[in-house]
Amino acid sequence: MALIVQKYGGTSVGGLNRIRRVAQKVKTLAEAGNQVVVVLSAMAGETDRLLRLAQEVHPDPDERELDVLLATGEQQSVALFCIASHAVGLDAHSLLGFQAGLLTNHRYGKARIELVDALRVHELLDQGKVVVVAGFQGVDEDTGDLTTLGRGGSDTTAVAMAAALKADVCEIYTDVEGVFTTDPNIVPEARKLERISYEEMLEMASLGAKVLDIRSVEFAAKFGVRIHVRSTFTDREGTMVVPEEQIKEQLIISGVAYNKNEARITIKGVPDQPGVARKVFTPISNAGIVVDVIIQNTSVDGTTDLTFTVPKTDYKKAMGLLSTVCSEIGAKEVLGDPNIAKVSIIGIGMRNHAGVASKMFGALADEGINIQTINTSEIKVSCVIDEKYTELAVRALHKAFGLAEGLEPAAEDI
Ligand code: ASP
Ligand code: MG
Repeated sequence: MALIVQKYGGTSVGGLNRIRRVAQKVKTLAEAGNQVVVVLSAMAGETDRLLRLAQEVHPDPDERELDVLLATGEQQSVALFCIASHAVGLDAHSLLGFQAGLLTNHRYGKARIELVDALRVHELLDQGKVVVVAGFQGVDEDTGDLTTLGRGGSDTTAVAMAAALKADVCEIYTDVEGVFTTDPNIVPEARKLERISYEEMLEMASLGAKVLDIRSVEFAAKFGVRIHVRSTFTDREGTMVVPEEQIKEQLIISGVAYNKNEARITIKGVPDQPGVARKVFTPISNAGIVVDVIIQNTSVDGTTDLTFTVPKTDYKKAMGLLSTVCSEIGAKEVLGDPNIAKVSIIGIGMRNHAGVASKMFGALADEGINIQTINTSEIKVSCVIDEKYTELAVRALHKAFGLAEGLEPAAEDI
């Protein structure tokens, strides 16, 4: 007998027939003798609909009340799911976040899970019930207020439940078959990965692969929760997200990711003095703008250039703030380009292999794509390029690293 946490996303429960189908699936698993905890998202489109309603009555809705409203999406799906389960003879019992012991901090709209008190869930499982937990929501342990975890937060609910219950596996059911070497919409030959490490998954998620919410992967890595990402609509195995030690065969590169949601900003002629970087980035962070790639050169004749990226949606705001900063610190000018994309290759294999970056630059050069900035981490190389070449770059990199075949490159290639 195993203890399995299953999370179904919005499309998987996006209609009564789909809910019935999932109930049947859970029934089969429970009848095979497993203990099952189901975590559900709101039905597809419901969270957006509720958000629009709130914004119709107020342009800037109160955060506390917004959480009370948004949490109802998941409340509907767990109740409907249990009712549908009863219709097929499955003993399912719904719990809202607070009832399932999901205690969070007080940050409405983006609360962090502080603790999961799984006592009630254990009791219900012991009574032979399938426990159905509303995703995306919790309760502020100090005030008793409802909180939500941020968009896509149901993945995190599932992983947190799995960690607290020491579940054998946390299955994330979605509308894709797993984690692919790249976006199959761009590269039809993209291959489903059998396994991927937490670290690679974190890079993929932060670089734009949307299959898992990034906070859920952080949580899984911290508590060693094995995640199985798979499709609700087939029985095929998906992708296991696991600790690095559990990866058997490792290619040098596991995937190619891209992100078109950033803009590039360069400040030219920045005086090379202590405290200048702080003056540049403090107003940016005070405005809640998240900076990604930051590159600074060593100075020539006492000044340097500073380049970084910000989310496209914050580009105008950042440029406004920086024109003030620029004159304050005596920099020459601020240049920006919102039409950029970041393409990245990711793989724990590159820790032990030389020549990975140069191969990437070669593949881009062969397509005539200019690289604007380069930055790396231990398991990733990212290049900022002109946005209009994104698809071409992704295809070229996927091909150069032989990702469709999943073959090790020959020794002379590396
Ligand atoms: N319903 C929430 C959303 O749409 C949470 C989730 O689906 O994970 O973002
Ligand atoms: Mg999701």
